[in-house]
Amino acid sequence: MTLSTSCENKYINKTANPAVRDTDVAGLPDYPMSNRQCGDVVTEKCNLLYAQIMAYSLHQENDASLACMLASWVCGEGVLPEWMGLGKMEFTRMLQMHFPGFPVDSLQRPARELDAARVEERNELRQLLLNYRGSARDDKEWIATILSTACLGQNHLWQDLGLWSRQQVTELIKTNFPGLAERNDKDMKWKKFLYKQLCLADGIYVCRSPSCEVCADYDDCFGAEE
Ligand code: SF4
Repeated sequence: MTLSTSCENKYINKTANPAVRDTDVAGLPDYPMSNRQCGDVVTEKCNLLYAQIMAYSLHQENDASLACMLASWVCGEGVLPEWMGLGKMEFTRMLQMHFPGFPVDSLQRPARELDAARVEERNELRQLLLNYRGSARDDKEWIATILSTACLGQNHLWQDLGLWSRQQVTELIKTNFPGLAERNDKDMKWKKFLYKQLCLADGIYVCRSPSCEVCADYDDCFGAEE
């Protein structure tokens, strides 16, 4: 995809930071966009910003997913609130670790706030994820916070995260919380699966059937997430 640079300065003010690289975005690979329309304005903006962010990547684990979510967040996609739910200090640390030198202060940020009434619910989901983290790296905490915050949205988890396909959220959970991903061995929808784990931990049984195979809610739990 050839990207116009006309919208570039809307998202990144290159002149604000002389250290910003003069990125040849046309030479960078597009991220898979299975559910987006070619020529869609948001797609082009997101794709351009994704390429600009990835130009600062050291190609560490989670870089591509974070760049995708970050680009979508700046473009107003998904539901992530201010600082992607991390708070300014952790958001800045996350960027410094994954995209060192990226001009964080030049990013436009959507004016969305975390629903204070649901912080406890978010924190329970976050702790559930962290119980399964594969290592003690800081980025597991950031990913857990971002994932659990997006669970408060109304759409599929990958959409509320600003990811561009369901496969991406599956890979994100497998990479960071492998033991939890293994438990979803029937490929349940991710939000349904995460909330069900909380219910099971609290001894709450919400299913209307003893078996998924004969349950009237099967499509709600296992249907396509598109
Ligand atoms: S399909 Fe039915 S039994 Fe299975 S998890 Fe969903 S609600 Fe529970």
